[in-house]
Order: sequence, then structure tokens, then C-alpha cells
Amino acid sequence: MLLLARLFEGPNNGMAYAVAPLEDKYKVIPTRDPIADARALKARGEEVLILYSLSTPTFVEHRREVAEVASRFPVAAGGPHAAGDPITLAKLGVKYVVVGDGEAALPAIVERELGLRDELPPNTVVIEDGRVKTGRRFYVELVYKTYSEALSIYPPIEIMRSCNYRCAFCQTWTQGPVRYRLEDNVVALAKVYVARGHGDIRFIAPVGFLYGSEDGKTPNVDALVSLLKAVREAGGWPYLGTFPSETRPETVTRDVLRAIKPYIANRRLSFGLQTASERLLKAMKRVHDVAAVEEAVRTAVSIGFRPVVDVIGGLPGEEEDVASTVKEMEKLISMGALIRMHYFIPLPGTPLWGRRPAPPHPLYGDFIKRHRKKVEGYWEEQIELSRKILKTYEELRAYLRTPLTTPNSSAS
Ligand code: SF4
Repeated sequence: MLLLARLFEGPNNGMAYAVAPLEDKYKVIPTRDPIADARALKARGEEVLILYSLSTPTFVEHRREVAEVASRFPVAAGGPHAAGDPITLAKLGVKYVVVGDGEAALPAIVERELGLRDELPPNTVVIEDGRVKTGRRFYVELVYKTYSEALSIYPPIEIMRSCNYRCAFCQTWTQGPVRYRLEDNVVALAKVYVARGHGDIRFIAPVGFLYGSEDGKTPNVDALVSLLKAVREAGGWPYLGTFPSETRPETVTRDVLRAIKPYIANRRLSFGLQTASERLLKAMKRVHDVAAVEEAVRTAVSIGFRPVVDVIGGLPGEEEDVASTVKEMEKLISMGALIRMHYFIPLPGTPLWGRRPAPPHPLYGDFIKRHRKKVEGYWEEQIELSRKILKTYEELRAYLRTPLTTPNSSAS
């Protein structure tokens, strides 16, 4: 059995994670033309399984290809989009849709394709005999390697999976119980990364400063320092609290920053305000107020960090709150922060899926123009992406004759 890993433009980190636990046992071949490559391999008598790792932007861009490939060859698809909307992918012909930890699902999928097991693979959705079937849920410990030698991809090291918060625009918390990678395992991986020339060690964590937290909400300063120190001793140069291990404002405390500053390479810290409307913060289940973000900015600046504050424009139902959010962003800039401006992207699998974004408000555009040097992000691109997702799902609704997965209600 050969595994054809479909790579796209960009880092392909999800695919590296997917094949890492398999590549010692099965041959993994990268492909950018899965039909031609699978056809050539089949002609040589090889059995193939084609793998996709799909974010929602990748899905809307390549969904026709996915359906076309899945109509000819067995396909297993995972990634956040698969977890968020498995039914549409299964209806498009994907044979195995991975909705949970891929480390448990993919080896079982391969065994099933080889005829070595009948049982449905764990964490997997299939349509068989016209019925949707789901394998049992199984949560793994974070013990698997995080890089792929077959694909030569060394992604950031995932140190924490899932989240104890429940923000309405986010899908991360649906990944089951919060788990942390043990320090020894992180260090062993860091040594490999350093030896292969990847000495800048970035981490993946839903909330960077909550690594090792006992309740998933209170920073564990000892665990943070111990991890960072050990990575430094392994020859790595760790980054924490910045993409892709952004943190939450309540975790940006003097204790945490003073303790970790000697060990981390970054002086930028990213955390979210999202909106300055207390009403919307509650509706989004953010569990912090605007004052917590101001406090975090003050603390970060006083200890020599540059805070980068995430804000989402276009949240469903935000119209009356735009002016106050813009005013707050100006205040944060005057306190020394940068703003990372996002436009709301409807993502399957989140509580806000099904809600239409509020139209891009001109006050945001004016703000971005006024503060060009202090505002980051992909505002225009995300407006476009948001529209594309809605359009794609309108088309899918017609094509699949199902209203189930279409964002169709208006903002309230
Ligand atoms: S936005 Fe951050 S804090 Fe909220 S659920 Fe997602 S990962 Fe957790």
C-alpha cells in the first residue's frame, strides 16, 4: 500500500502530522497531481490510498479536485474542515473522513484498506450502504513525532491539544480533553529539529501560556519555565505566546512574563480582544472583558514585549458595536499594541456556523488606513474568503440537495 500525500501551496503542516505515525511502516509519496500519480502507480500494480489534510480555505479552493479524485481512488481526508463538516466530504465521495485524532484513525484506515480489519476505524466517518457510520472516539496522548521525513516537513511542535474555553467562532475546543505533550518528548523532538537545522523551535498550542496548566485555565509557571529551559539546553531557540502558540489576555501576567523572558526568542506576544463589545464578548463565550486586554497590553509593554492584539470584524450581530471596537483599538495602539485585524470567517464545526458575517463596516476600512503601520492581518483577503465559503456552500447545497451544512441564517 502506497500513501499519496496531496500537498498544496503553503507549509502542509497538517499533512506532516498525518503521515508522521505511518511513514516508518508504509511508503509515503508527496503528490501535487494525485490523479496522474495514482494512475501511474496503479498501472504498476500498486495499491494506493490518497490522503488530504483540509482546512476550510483549502477545501473551498480544491473541492472539485477532491470529489474528482474520490470518484476514482480511495481517499482519506482529515484536518479541521473534515472534522467540522464530515458529511459533505463523505457525500462528495471521500471514503474515510477523519474527525478526531488522526494518529489513531489513519493506521486503522490503512489496515482496513489492506483487508486486515473490518471494524470501522476510530475517529472516522464513512457512508456505507447509503448510511452514515461513525467509528468509536479515541483520544491519543501526544507521544507521536511531529515531523515527516518522507515529506521533509518540520512543523511547529504541538505541545497542547484542545482547549478548556468554548469560543463561538473557534473549532479547537471540539478536539476532546485538553492534553499536553510531556517535556521529555518535546525535548527529544527539539533535538531532532536542531540536528536537522531547524533550531528555531515554534510550538502549536491553542493557548500558549497554558501549557501544563492543571485546570486548563491557570498558567503553570513552573511547567512553562521547565519546558523552555529544557528546549534551550537541547540547543533550540523557543518561541511561545506568538503564532502558532498565541495566548489569552488573562495569562499575560507579570509572573509569567518575567519567568519566561530569559528563555524565549520572541518579543511579540499575541492575544485576543476579538471585539470591544462586552455584549458580544459574552455571546462569543470569551470569558474575559475589555479591561483584561488593556491590563495584558500594559503588562506586556512594561516588561519589554510588543503586544499584538487580535480583533475580528464582521462578527454576526456586531453592527451597533463597531464604533466602540474601533475606539478601543485606537486606545490599545496608543498604549503600545499592534492590532491584527481579521474578518469573520464562518467555519464548519463552530457554534457560529450557519450565521452570516456582518458586512465589512466602513469604519474598519478607515481605521486600517489611518493606522497602516500599526495594523496587521489579511482583512481584504479574509472578506473574500468569507464570501467564497458562503458561495461554495450555496453551490454544495444545490449540488448535494441538502440544507444541512449551509450557513443560511441572517445576522441577528
Ligand atoms: S479562541 Fe482560543 S481560547 Fe477560545 S476556544 Fe479557541 S483556542 Fe480556546
